[in-house]
Amino acid sequence: AKAWILRHQFVGFPKASDFEMKLEELPDPKDGEMILEALYLSVDPYMRYVCEQVIVSKNPAFSVGSYVVANCGWRSFVLSDGTELTPIVSDWPKDIPLSFALGAIGMPGLTALYGLEEICQLKAGETLLVNAAAGAVGSVVGQIGKIKGCRVVGCAGSDAKVAYLKELGFDQAFNYKTVGSLEEALREASAEGYDCYFENVGGEFSSAVMPQMKPFGRIAVCGSISLYNDTVPQTGPYIHAHMIFKQLKMEGFLCHRWSYKNEESLRRLLLCVLSLLTWMEHITQGFENMPAAFMGMLQGDNIGKAVVQV
Ligand code: NDP
Repeated sequence: AKAWILRHQFVGFPKASDFEMKLEELPDPKDGEMILEALYLSVDPYMRYVCEQVIVSKNPAFSVGSYVVANCGWRSFVLSDGTELTPIVSDWPKDIPLSFALGAIGMPGLTALYGLEEICQLKAGETLLVNAAAGAVGSVVGQIGKIKGCRVVGCAGSDAKVAYLKELGFDQAFNYKTVGSLEEALREASAEGYDCYFENVGGEFSSAVMPQMKPFGRIAVCGSISLYNDTVPQTGPYIHAHMIFKQLKMEGFLCHRWSYKNEESLRRLLLCVLSLLTWMEHITQGFENMPAAFMGMLQGDNIGKAVVQV
């Protein structure tokens, strides 16, 4: 089996030389174990999941040919004892690609749903702002916002992404890389400000948004991708005055906090994809291209969910 190994921790932005491909010998599975073959690898800022098919099974709970989502690194094949696997529902619709189990009907979809419902407690008629809006999480956030009857503003890093957001039904979208002033662009997109802010980017972006939150606004801190590869911690943003005088609520979250209801939530997301939700993927072919796909995603190459088809 092939495996991508991290040679050492990243220093600054990841480089090709930080990764090494190795061959691993897989032992024969014992009772309770099985061998999984990777079909799609999820390309995430934090590198996690794989969509796998069971090819050999000595575990009665998983039959040969069934599909699972596993957390087992960048590997072409892996030995599993069946723990920490999420089975892909047996009635998965034939016309929906399995790779969606890594995106809209997987962890990014759950993240969008929980951030909006549990943290923002988004209500119809409110104005929602989301950044990294054309990505895996952001594109679901905006669409759920529309389904809930909200006015949705999104920003992303290219004109093609902005056009995609308009196609998805976002009310306003702008390219944060080409606007002269982020503050002005945010004001133009919603002169009255924002009730909810789904935060994926952090840093200076947050500093620009805080003054434009409405009183009693809610901020779901999901990620801070603009800071992940910094070697020197940023100072600021200095947000306290806005938090106090506008009585804002800001809460960080990890999507597994609500994992006890994942099964029901994944069913809800599946129904959304079947009816309303549009979903794009950025597919890179070939296991050997995983590091390049990972670095490309961090630079914004992807529209929609980035995956590698093994
Ligand atoms: P995406 O599919 O959104 O891909 C990452 C995107 O981030 C890129 O396409 C790029 O888009 C944008 N980006 C990269 N650098 C910057 C920057 N300096 N400033 C602004 N945007 C940048 O990834 P995900 O949807 O998987 O993840 C989105 C966020 O959600 C991340 O912060 C991630 O860590 C977080 N997350 C948190 C979870 C949780 O449980 N809390 C779970 C899952 C994800 P662009 O071209 O627009 O710049």
